[in-house]
Amino acid sequence: MRDTAASGKPSVERVDTAVYTVPTDTPEADGTLSWDRTTLVLATVRCGDVTGLGYTYGPAATAQVVHELLTGVVVGGSVLDVPRLNEAMHRTVRNAGRPGVAAQAISAMDIALWDCKSRLLGLPLVDLLGAARTAVPLYGSGGFTTYDDRQQERQLRTWVEDEGIPRVKIKIGESWGRCEERDLHRVGAARACIGNGAELYVDANGAYTAKQAVRVADRLTHHGVRWFEEPVSSDHPRTLAAIRVAVPMDVTAGEYGYTLAYFAHLLDAGAVDCLQADVTRCGGITVWLRAAALAEGHGLDISGHCAPHAHVHAASAVPNLRHLEWFHDHVRVERVLFDGVLDPAGGAVTPGPDGSPGLGLTLNAGRAERYRVG
Ligand SMILES: [Mg+2]
Repeated sequence: MRDTAASGKPSVERVDTAVYTVPTDTPEADGTLSWDRTTLVLATVRCGDVTGLGYTYGPAATAQVVHELLTGVVVGGSVLDVPRLNEAMHRTVRNAGRPGVAAQAISAMDIALWDCKSRLLGLPLVDLLGAARTAVPLYGSGGFTTYDDRQQERQLRTWVEDEGIPRVKIKIGESWGRCEERDLHRVGAARACIGNGAELYVDANGAYTAKQAVRVADRLTHHGVRWFEEPVSSDHPRTLAAIRVAVPMDVTAGEYGYTLAYFAHLLDAGAVDCLQADVTRCGGITVWLRAAALAEGHGLDISGHCAPHAHVHAASAVPNLRHLEWFHDHVRVERVLFDGVLDPAGGAVTPGPDGSPGLGLTLNAGRAERYRVG
């Protein structure tokens, strides 16, 4: 599987990782999880004097997977042949279990390899992949269940009024679906705040039971909700499919897709109206583009999940993109750790606006150092 320097192609010479944990600005929670800090695992690959970077949001153990299982597979391989190295990484983690931390480690490495290749060629990654669109539409995402009405309103107004993002999403399903009335109160407050000119989405993170989700959906229609993400756990595609038939808004899922086969199962079950996929989990840009093609083959759009700066070039390269999630937590982390972050003004971002090669991101070591934990 391995190219060598002798093949005449530029080869990966070195792999490094760094782990950063950044506290949230206030405690955050969705329907099924709460957190007060977020960890980003950075992978870098070096080829000559060029270094590419990639990352995932996962436990520090992800870095250990990179060193123990992946480094030996990619060092010496051609940085021009990213799909070949991606396949080699997937094969080498077979007995460790591909979904989860291993897939996150592969994703960070795959993104770093694409970044390195496009830097070697002196191109923004979108130009290496080939653009299907110029601008990538965004939706503001946050609205955590820990927020009170005032905090939620402040966040939504920032997106819609200050930044001109015409789509927003809030979390519902608080405490595993046990706070239905508060969920609906917060949805009503969100609609009152953003008016009728902006699209309103909700994400239950799998918190509801099936019948509860249908009942809640009926009440969500009164607030013009267009997107109902993971009304029940995405572990049960047939249940999602049944809910999809029963409710008028789009039912969506896919953020826990760690393999291409997972997306095929969701789509074959008729579980979603729009497929979500996360480039930092699914196997990187290489697999994310294939997931987009799978969705397109089913007549559906794809939406990028979180980690906006890792997605934006790939998102620009697919014709069936719905939008990209401008997730409050990750936007904060990426603004702290990286230079070259994009401006969401107007509700869309354009990758490679200044012609910077690769992802256009540079780690700001000065700002990042105080958050480094590994
Ligand atoms: Mg979600």
